[in-house]
Amino acid sequence: MGLDIKKEDMVTVILGDDKGKRGSILSVSPKKGRCVVERLNMIKRHMKPSKKYTQGGIIEKEAPIHRSNLMLVCPKCDKPTKIGHKFLESGSKVRVCRKCGEVLD
Ligand SMILES: [Zn+2]
Repeated sequence: MGLDIKKEDMVTVILGDDKGKRGSILSVSPKKGRCVVERLNMIKRHMKPSKKYTQGGIIEKEAPIHRSNLMLVCPKCDKPTKIGHKFLESGSKVRVCRKCGEVLD
């Protein structure tokens, strides 16, 4: 089972503290059904001093969000939408916005 959203898609959060906020997908974990979204679901992590963080201390980092808490934002109609699918004449399957019909791939 893959995910129907991809890296660089614009999404909005539909549950939790970040409800209504938007961000673009930084990475997806299809097996876990989770996505990391830019600047959303930030968590603070305590870091021990290391080569990368010489001072140690607290850094903020995006935590993955489950796919079911996200909706794709259509670039055409600018609304959160469910994703539909259709086949092109070439036979390839593409994602479409269920609201306006725009092809999203
Ligand atoms: Zn649309």
